[in-house]
Amino acid sequence: MPKRPRIAILGFALESNRFAPVIGRSGFERINYLEGQAILDEARKPNPRIAANVTGFIKTMDESGDWEPVPLVIANGAAAGPCDHTFFTELMADMKRGLEAAKPLDGVYFSQHGAAITTEHHDPDGLMFEMARAVVGKDVPIIATLDLHANISELMVGSTDLLVGYITNPHVDMWDRGIEAAKAMRELLAGVRYYPTFIRLPLVAPSVTLLTARGPYGDLINMGQARRAKENAIVNVTIMGGFAWSDTPDNGMAIVVTSRGSTDPGQRLARDLAKACWADRERYQVTLTPLEDAIGMMKDLNRDSSKPALVFADVADNPGGGARGNTTWILKAAHEAGVEDMAITPFFDEEMAADAHKLGCGTRFLARFNRSETQEFSKPFEAEAVVRNLSDGVIVGRRGTGAGRTIRLGPTATLQVGGIRVVVISNRTQALDTGYFESFGVAVDQMRSLVVKSRGHFRAGFDHLFPHERVIEVDCPGLVSPILSRYTWKGLPRPVYPMDPAATWAAD
Ligand SMILES: [Zn+2]
Repeated sequence: MPKRPRIAILGFALESNRFAPVIGRSGFERINYLEGQAILDEARKPNPRIAANVTGFIKTMDESGDWEPVPLVIANGAAAGPCDHTFFTELMADMKRGLEAAKPLDGVYFSQHGAAITTEHHDPDGLMFEMARAVVGKDVPIIATLDLHANISELMVGSTDLLVGYITNPHVDMWDRGIEAAKAMRELLAGVRYYPTFIRLPLVAPSVTLLTARGPYGDLINMGQARRAKENAIVNVTIMGGFAWSDTPDNGMAIVVTSRGSTDPGQRLARDLAKACWADRERYQVTLTPLEDAIGMMKDLNRDSSKPALVFADVADNPGGGARGNTTWILKAAHEAGVEDMAITPFFDEEMAADAHKLGCGTRFLARFNRSETQEFSKPFEAEAVVRNLSDGVIVGRRGTGAGRTIRLGPTATLQVGGIRVVVISNRTQALDTGYFESFGVAVDQMRSLVVKSRGHFRAGFDHLFPHERVIEVDCPGLVSPILSRYTWKGLPRPVYPMDPAATWAAD
């Protein structure tokens, strides 16, 4: 075992929605692109911008013995469209040069999302791991942490020693998975060998069925974790729900079980999990609330003050899935229906935020939402508005998946549009907690209806006020509607359940 192991730290985190606009270098730089020492400096700040799995990994390596971190590059593009292939090629070349120059290395850690595509390739994550393996050789451990919405390829499994996927959705365990990756790195450095088993099912689960606090997916993850706790030979159980809109041949519920000593224990558990998942597949079906019914509920809340306020999730316009965060179906319908004491956050419209900052607080003007937006779901909408609040948009996450992290929404303006408050932001992102209202002058306890542009991560930031029963998932058009039959798929394997009810799978 090396006395002072040299561990390279790398990352490429992108959840690609094939139907969303391409993201290139400037897009990554705007979100989070760090090189060299800046990675360690950021990770060791009290409220870092960097993903919690990286900070968890570094802290645990710091605490578990001597080591020499070799920070190379971490490119985080959050959720967007395909990665520009030229940028991806440059990034890979930078990583390769960095790894070669850093040799001899004793280990490699990747902070990866695992659902990227490029404009030319459907598995850039696999290509990146393969490149790292070729540089460091077969005896140097490579570990990657992955988002629960990763799509897994054979190349990803075959090029790494261990994949550690999140086990919670909303993802409140990123930090814990970083710790797990570091502990596994220590074990691999000590000479233990890992054996992965990978099974992919023809099940492309609609996003809203992949919560882990309840439902079929939560049950499956619990089954895997319970077995892992009992069986010493099992290192890790990763069950990836996947991300449908990457639209690749690698889509499908992925089970990766890694065992110590031999393949057998992992193989047995992976098969048991796959069988249980497939037997339970009918529960991965979606029911959303039609827009008209949602507006009716909002009107009802205005009429009857004895009813508790509700959260309405615009799940199809979730920026966390690559959507634009600016569709106007709910805003327009609620405005026309005269809904009051309602607020929407966050609405992505950089031009609108800039207008409001120029006009100043208290100014009345004709707000023209989406006036330069070209994405087909982001329809324009015009209405009289008053500027109520202005901010630089820098906040610290209060609760849930963003807790303790610095978040930059860019110039932000709260507009009053009839009885509706709209929080307009300049950096496209989803709502993670009540701070996305309250930091911008909207008192959550005074609102009857709260609309969030988010599929599900908001739940971990609102659960102290809004339990599951008071969250309504609204059916509107958008780039990430859970009604998957509405899209024209090019890469997805077919048939897949539940889009194709006749899809079959057998364990042998
Ligand atoms: Zn995710």
